[in-house]
Amino acid sequence: MLRMMQTATLLCLGIAIAAYAADQAEPKLVKISESIYMAPMASNVYLVTTADGNVIIDTAPARQAQQAKDLLAAHNHASIKYIILTHGHADHIGGIDVWKEPGTQIVAQRNYTELVNYVTRLEGFFAPRNAAAFNRPPEAVGSWAGNYGAKIDPTIFFDENYEFSLGGLEFDLFSTPGETPDHLTVWIPSYKVAFIGDNYAGIGMPEPMSFTNLYAIRGTKPRWALDWIKSLDRVLELKPEIVLNGHGDPIFGNKEITRRLTRYRDAIQYVHDETVKGMNAGKDVFTLMREIKLPASYDLSQVFGKVSWSVRGIYDGYAGWYDMNPATMYELPPSSVYPDLVKLAGGPEPIAELAFEKVAAGKPVEALHLTDIALAYDQKNSAALKARIKALEYLKKDCENFVEEGWLDYGITKAKERLASQ
Ligand SMILES: [Zn+2]
Repeated sequence: MLRMMQTATLLCLGIAIAAYAADQAEPKLVKISESIYMAPMASNVYLVTTADGNVIIDTAPARQAQQAKDLLAAHNHASIKYIILTHGHADHIGGIDVWKEPGTQIVAQRNYTELVNYVTRLEGFFAPRNAAAFNRPPEAVGSWAGNYGAKIDPTIFFDENYEFSLGGLEFDLFSTPGETPDHLTVWIPSYKVAFIGDNYAGIGMPEPMSFTNLYAIRGTKPRWALDWIKSLDRVLELKPEIVLNGHGDPIFGNKEITRRLTRYRDAIQYVHDETVKGMNAGKDVFTLMREIKLPASYDLSQVFGKVSWSVRGIYDGYAGWYDMNPATMYELPPSSVYPDLVKLAGGPEPIAELAFEKVAAGKPVEALHLTDIALAYDQKNSAALKARIKALEYLKKDCENFVEEGWLDYGITKAKERLASQ
């Protein structure tokens, strides 16, 4: 499984891994029903046909949009009356221009505007992080577009609900914040089908489904667990017979939908509530990251989302950065005294030696911290860099989470580059 994940396509803003699409060299059109078709790209594109024209739900990343369009238009090339965006991540909105026709209405939830402005506002911040996380060269970033510089494509925004009908088919859209604050669900009552974007895993992979990332370490605002839970409840209340996701396979049958979404929701609730209980008991974030484990009964992997990252995401989302330690109120970080510690130790070598011992003792994270100290004194110290590579490789050996593995690879590459530049 992990091998498959490593080859999957990772996208910059959509947390997206396209295991499903990556498995297929040539994505093939998937017929969901007589009126609904799916192009299984890095993020799925859905076509809903009606007597008076078509509705497109999500548009694929820019680089795949034409391919998705070719697949779907081969089946039906009636005009596109509506494009509905389940949320504003690039892998869902990148293909808007490919799909848009004169007169096409583009529908999004109101928070879409701030989401895409936020991403644009911090473009220079996100670019190297995305490049590192997804193992690709950084994209060129132009001059700052300002706080409100994003291109806003939607023509219709709504707050809670938006309904329209086309060709006699009723579409009910409602706000379901989760992975992003602008997430929406499209419900077609007569077909009992719900399009829920990335609020279910945001990832296509076989069972057991992975826990999600309530915080994505490439950098995100908090993803509010309680909103996400309510949104999943809202979908479950509809009693859908088909659930269509932003990534991965359709889920058919209300019984299976209920089983999967309930399990997912309950896991989010569990991690949230345990974090809150720990916070109220005065526990610090690192203690809770170590202590909170998902009970096996949830039967969720952590191939994509990590419980410990989510715990920290919830904690920091509620409380921000201050940890009650007066030392952290000030501008100097702990690393400001690392060079002094190295001098006390007699240089970086003894610290690197200790780091090797920690790895041998099965404590690779402690080894990493030690190499941080040694490298703060001499960033090219070869013993410290070698110990660091050893610790990172140790962590990688047992790593089940492909996001984490990407960052470990990034660390290994950087350390090797530094070693080679001696
Ligand atoms: Zn996505």
